[in-house]
Amino acid sequence: MAYDFDLFVIGAGSGGVRAARFAAGFGAKVAVAESRYLGGTCVNVGCVPKKLLVYGAHVADELEQAAGFGWTLEEGHFDWGTLIANKNREIERLNGIYRNLLVNSGVTLLQGHARLTGANEVEVDGQRYTAEHILIATGGWPQVPDIPGKELAITSNEAFYLKALPRRVLVVGGGYIAVEFAGIFQGLGADTSLLYRGDLFLRGFDGSVRTHLKEELEKRGLDLQFNADIQRIDQLDDGSLKATLKDGRELVADCVFYATGRRPMLDNLGLENTGVELDARGYIRVDEQYQTTAPSILAIGDVIGRVQLTPVALAEGMAVARRLFKPEQYRPVDYQNIPTAVFSQPPIGTVGITEEQALEAGHKVQIFESRFRAMKLTLTDIQEKTLMKLVVDAETDKVLGCHMVGPDAGEIVQGLGIALKAGATKQQFDETIGVHPTAAEEFVTMRTVTR
Ligand code: FAD
Ligand code: NDP
Repeated sequence: MAYDFDLFVIGAGSGGVRAARFAAGFGAKVAVAESRYLGGTCVNVGCVPKKLLVYGAHVADELEQAAGFGWTLEEGHFDWGTLIANKNREIERLNGIYRNLLVNSGVTLLQGHARLTGANEVEVDGQRYTAEHILIATGGWPQVPDIPGKELAITSNEAFYLKALPRRVLVVGGGYIAVEFAGIFQGLGADTSLLYRGDLFLRGFDGSVRTHLKEELEKRGLDLQFNADIQRIDQLDDGSLKATLKDGRELVADCVFYATGRRPMLDNLGLENTGVELDARGYIRVDEQYQTTAPSILAIGDVIGRVQLTPVALAEGMAVARRLFKPEQYRPVDYQNIPTAVFSQPPIGTVGITEEQALEAGHKVQIFESRFRAMKLTLTDIQEKTLMKLVVDAETDKVLGCHMVGPDAGEIVQGLGIALKAGATKQQFDETIGVHPTAAEEFVTMRTVTR
């Protein structure tokens, strides 16, 4: 049977664009449907605008440090409207770049909501298209618990377009987004509290990292409230919001920001017209090669709920394009040792496994841990400490994990990711010459076992 396209991609986000472009580059006839924004979550309401706001908040640190270096500055004034307008302009520029990337690689771009009408058929705005392969790359969407007043809360989607910086913010959640946005709001001058339902935020990260970040955020005056869970939200007569906690406490703020995880985006996708099944958590079930339970349909990225990071969606998109149209170049995605950063203030960088995971997996571990005041702060009164930690297998000497909390952690951990992928040992770390004077050199000069 002749199909309209070799590959029909639903969703022009990180994974979908990568798969579409490379498939077209390999000679396939490709279409992409996008209902909302080119570049997906990352470009429009994720990594990119988030990082721009983090940079904006970080300026406050630079201003605070300036006096130590001899600078006398006038009282600073921050304007939210300017930051958001500049951010929006940059996002529009990126949208255009994504459009060109697709069109120039020969992909047919369809603007509109795509709905599966069969195992080889998709409908966009009443028009039906057939394809030999269909790739679902529809991403995720913020999930807010079902409590009374939840419609009064915002999520990351809305935060990027707030008309004004709220004066008082309650951030709910203890994952990446909550910690990052707490830093953004506080850095830009809002009176910010972070409420997390458990004992300590960032579950799954190394214990030393979690404790260290908690201490540093508290030093910065962020109000951290653990074992705090909102039961309901009510609007008061003056427009502010009252959050009633399960323990009976009441907190008043101008904005309640929920970052309590993301669900797969499957709305009106027409999965019922196909044999595509979901897994126990509600994500699309795929095999090792991203094939769903309907053989002509594949899925990648946040919608399969493996590792919800842009570089992972990109790698999965690449793998699918190669598997379908350049099989001789196919390589499976390696989910081991994925480096990642949390752009909190100070940021976290991490690659490999945590001390807790290493012990659980039965490794005999050696821990190397270092805490120090960064050189840049020595001419200031700021007492922030950087944490660096190596988790080493005592028997093989292999470095199992590198963890950091401190300036540029995300930049530093990228290189360490290569070392871990190459299977570096602690001895090889030790034999690597440092770059002096940097904070990063500490990773090759930690000689004494902490425990
Ligand atoms: P998406 O990028 O979400 O793309 C899916 C696309 O599909 C969307 O454009 C959507 O409009 C479209 N779509 C959905 N349904 C349909 C339909 N039926 N028809 C047509 N189009 C449809 N990751 C990092 O690595 N680093 C970070 O710093 C980082 N920061 C983040 C900050 C925030 C606030 C958020 C929310 C996420 C962040 N992420 C970050 C995660 C990252 O954005 C995602 O992992 C990544 O975007 C997933 O890519 P994807 O291709 O699976 O989906
Ligand atoms: P996460 O899954 O990282 O964190 C969700 C948080 O919300 C957890 O602390 C969780 O608590 C808590 N939570 C979940 N349900 C409830 C509830 N009903 N009531 C109260 N708290 C609840 O999700 P995020 O939304 O922060 O981010 C989504 C994903 O996007 C991340 O996992 C990450 O993969 C990606 N991302 C990556 C970034 C980066 O690379 N820098 C930045 C932002 C996002 P508990 O731990 O107790 O379950």
